[in-house]
Amino acid sequence: MQSAQTGNDVRVERLIEWLRDAHAMEAQAESMLSKQASRIEHYPELKARIEQHITETQNQAKLIETCLQRYDKSYSGFKDLGGKMMAMGQAMGGMTVNDEIIKGAQMGYVFENLEIASYEILIAAAKAVGDTQTEEICTRILAEEVAMADWLRSHLAELTQAYLTRAQAPNTEAKR
Ligand code: MG
Ligand code: FE
Repeated sequence: MQSAQTGNDVRVERLIEWLRDAHAMEAQAESMLSKQASRIEHYPELKARIEQHITETQNQAKLIETCLQRYDKSYSGFKDLGGKMMAMGQAMGGMTVNDEIIKGAQMGYVFENLEIASYEILIAAAKAVGDTQTEEICTRILAEEVAMADWLRSHLAELTQAYLTRAQAPNTEAKR
């Protein structure tokens, strides 16, 4: 329990702000990934991996809430929704271009790396204030983000080949 430290420690203030940012980021991730998965029709392997990561993402948001609640028992998580990640979310969410599957995977990889950076920062901040529970939780979440980023990167070439094969075939939808 770190509540006793919250006083006027600017390091704790930043940690709490960054946890709120991470919570907003995960809420945004869930909505982007859900939109993405629901639109995929011809790429079942990618769809299944995204669906697995939706489950992970929902759990991550809950874990971040537990970190925040140790500082503020009344924390609800609703205040921080729909903030900083909206632009990127719209870029990924509303895609109807003819290569939407490719752009979605590309932006997914970018977003996972944004998450990786966020958790590296949170781990360092948690360490700085001695919040070992937050450090441990963020280290676990980081591993899931790294796994998703690695999976996407290692499947981009295969996905592109599958997309181009479908795009070239007559009367075959490729974009989703
Ligand atoms: Mg995440
Ligand atoms: Fe993620």
